Amino acid sequence: DPQLNSNYSFENFIEGDCNRLARSAGYAVAGKPGGTSFNPLMIYGGVGLGKTHLVQAIGNEIKRSLPDKLVIYVSCEKFCQQFVDSLKNNTINDFVNFYQAMDVIIMDDVHNFAGKEKTQDIFFHIFNHLHQSGKQVILTSDKPPKDLAGLEERLLSRFKWGLSADLQIPDLETRMAILKKKMYSDGIDLPGEVVEYVAHNIDNNVRELEGAMVSLLAQSTLNRKEIDLGLAKSMLKNFIKNSSKEISMEYIQKLVCEYFEVPVEMVKSKTRKREIVQARQISMYLAKSHTKTSLKSIGAFFGGRDHSTVIYACQTVEDLIDTDKKFKAYVQDIQKKLKMS
Ligand code: ADP
Ligand code: MG
Repeated sequence: DPQLNSNYSFENFIEGDCNRLARSAGYAVAGKPGGTSFNPLMIYGGVGLGKTHLVQAIGNEIKRSLPDKLVIYVSCEKFCQQFVDSLKNNTINDFVNFYQAMDVIIMDDVHNFAGKEKTQDIFFHIFNHLHQSGKQVILTSDKPPKDLAGLEERLLSRFKWGLSADLQIPDLETRMAILKKKMYSDGIDLPGEVVEYVAHNIDNNVRELEGAMVSLLAQSTLNRKEIDLGLAKSMLKNFIKNSSKEISMEYIQKLVCEYFEVPVEMVKSKTRKREIVQARQISMYLAKSHTKTSLKSIGAFFGGRDHSTVIYACQTVEDLIDTDKKFKAYVQDIQKKLKMS
């Protein structure tokens, strides 16, 4: 199957809290395509978190254990292109028949359907045909179905029929495991402290994590040098600079205010209402930990306050993180959103 890439398997998809539900649902579907209530199975999450890997693994597993099943993997983009081509060539029937003959369709990145009404219509019919005949539909998307903008309601409602499971940013332990697995499969070995350093510092997504390691190796080969921690640090500095976008205070403010549903202007105002103070303090804390802005400038930005107010805010937030589980979850949630941007 040219569309399936055999490099993606369950075996090399590291399990962690970040992907446990999605992974086990995927595994269940792979064992019984069309025969579980997970139909469609929708895997969603940010860039580079393993969506393609996981759904490819499902496809490969089905081909391995049920070789007679017809499995097609197609990116939404490619599907849209094929549809346009079939319109041009007058081969719509062939196009539809091809997909309707499948036992399993895996469509990657369905958020790319946005705005493409005709293609959505065609997919709607293909989806219905397959689903009614007990065939398996597997989808990925960068957002949960409820947040997918630009998709027709009737298609979205079908996307919600089965199970939606998300992939989150892996925690440190999982990042380490992913790096180790990758080194092992590539037959390379980096010092433990280097692996740890990479896993600690690249915490946006798995693609960047692997990218950092590949870049370290490439540079060491070119320079004919062994990679020690010092070298890794200096190499990684460039990588992080090149890859991660600057987070602005405006953006932090917007995100925090959206999260707590408070108006942006209120955060900069003098009000001491509890929820506003909380939003303001968390914004200051995030500005301190995620930007290179001075305490003075942070204070000035959030309503002309002085640097000691910022210090107090950060201290308050840190204390609450230590003592209040719910508060900690809020902050982590916002931090996650911040990093996904
Ligand atoms: P997405 O489709 O969500 O953008 P990909 O599936 O392309 O992300 O994953 C990016 C890279 O990270 C791939 O090389 C993939 O193999 C790797 N990867 C992601 N998650 C894991 C995981 N849990 N275990 C091992 N490798 C992973
Ligand atoms: Mg992908």
